[in-house]
Amino acid sequence: MIQQKRVLATDIPGPRSQELSARKAGAVASGVSAGLPVYVEEAVDGILRDVDGNQLIDFGSGIAVTTVGNGNRRVVEAVTKQIADFTHTCFMVTPYEEYVAVCEKLNEHTPGDHEKRSALFNSGAEAVENAVKIARLATGRDAVVAFDHAYHGRTNLTMGLTAKTMPYKQGFGPFASEIYRVPMAYPYRWPTGPEKCAEEALATLKSQIHVQVGEENCAAVVLEPIQGEGGFIVPPDGFLAGLADWCREHGILFIADEVQSGFCRTGDWFASDHEGVVPDIVTTAKGIAGGMPLSGVTGRADLMDAVHGGGLGGTYGGNPVACAAALASIETMEEDDLVGRAREIETLLRGRLEKLAQKYPQIGDIRGRGAMMAIELVEDRETKVPASALAAAVNKGCHERGLVTLTCGSYGNVFRFLPPLTIGDDLLAEGMDILEESFAAATA
Ligand SMILES: *Cc1c(COP(=O)(O)O)cnc(C)c1O
Repeated sequence: MIQQKRVLATDIPGPRSQELSARKAGAVASGVSAGLPVYVEEAVDGILRDVDGNQLIDFGSGIAVTTVGNGNRRVVEAVTKQIADFTHTCFMVTPYEEYVAVCEKLNEHTPGDHEKRSALFNSGAEAVENAVKIARLATGRDAVVAFDHAYHGRTNLTMGLTAKTMPYKQGFGPFASEIYRVPMAYPYRWPTGPEKCAEEALATLKSQIHVQVGEENCAAVVLEPIQGEGGFIVPPDGFLAGLADWCREHGILFIADEVQSGFCRTGDWFASDHEGVVPDIVTTAKGIAGGMPLSGVTGRADLMDAVHGGGLGGTYGGNPVACAAALASIETMEEDDLVGRAREIETLLRGRLEKLAQKYPQIGDIRGRGAMMAIELVEDRETKVPASALAAAVNKGCHERGLVTLTCGSYGNVFRFLPPLTIGDDLLAEGMDILEESFAAATA
């Protein structure tokens, strides 16, 4: 088993990775691009080892997926056993216990102690699509409200819900109708300042929906309780709760897209828990199954059960191997207190980032919760002009030094940290040292 240690055996990417990149160019569609083209051979906890023998520190978790650690032992054992037992029957043809058990766990851990039902799918986008299907059927209404900076996926409906054109939507339209976009409560960039952000964002949203859509035509509001790809935007206290109240008042369903923020990532089981907000429907994926493809929709029993038999499903949704992985992942989260570990990681990262911000005025904002932290880079703190080139340069510097990092944000100027929750403090600290070196090099 590989040691929890960074190793730079060659330049990054090394010669074998470069050969594979050349093969990729001749075989894989160029639309599927790689942020850090090192080809991985093995991964354990916080370390990825590539085909050249380099060992990289993982601050990405494959975009918040390997929350329970790369190659988590419980997950590997559960998957191995399940593969030997059976790999597929299609739950809609002949069902199996693992699917039911995952739904029970989703019903238990998602916010609220009301009666719930769940359904399983393969990807985050598929979960969001199904949440919208259910909301439309249950309410008999068409309109769906989405936010600036939102990311909900790459299928046609979810592209329509996603805010950013390049690269997600450019040239891929036309998009689904009956989607209405409202401003996001984005404290760092709210025109009148962060103090008024929650109240004014809510007022704008209510007025726009009232005038342009009509509350009685709205099936649902879809919101990431902490936005992911759009820049790890954390809405100010009161915004989610105010939104949920307004939704309830008008019979509009509140769909929390917790695909990225869920499963202990933010130092709660779900990011909605932070303010005690109870969504009508929650979508989950990414961190749910230790890297196996699985997603879920969990909602109020009356809404979920409004759908006729056969109305929901799919050939692979809730595949038994993915379900076995999910049960092992969730057991790990419960038994190893990964909620608590995410909070520890926040303390460590925040401390280092605050120090870094004293040195580099280009760090305009530090935000996030748990092991979902980010810094927003700007040209200067007054104008807040996005420093996208600097973010790209720091990112490249981290990669060359053997740290897997990701950027995000509508302007590409946000640096995000999504380590596996099982990563050691030593690797976290070393990753922060590398970030600091990369800042120094990029600003020299
Ligand atoms: C990643 C993501 C999705 C899409 O998930 P896929 O599995 O890539 O389809 C949807 N919503 C949010 C919030 C995400 O972060």
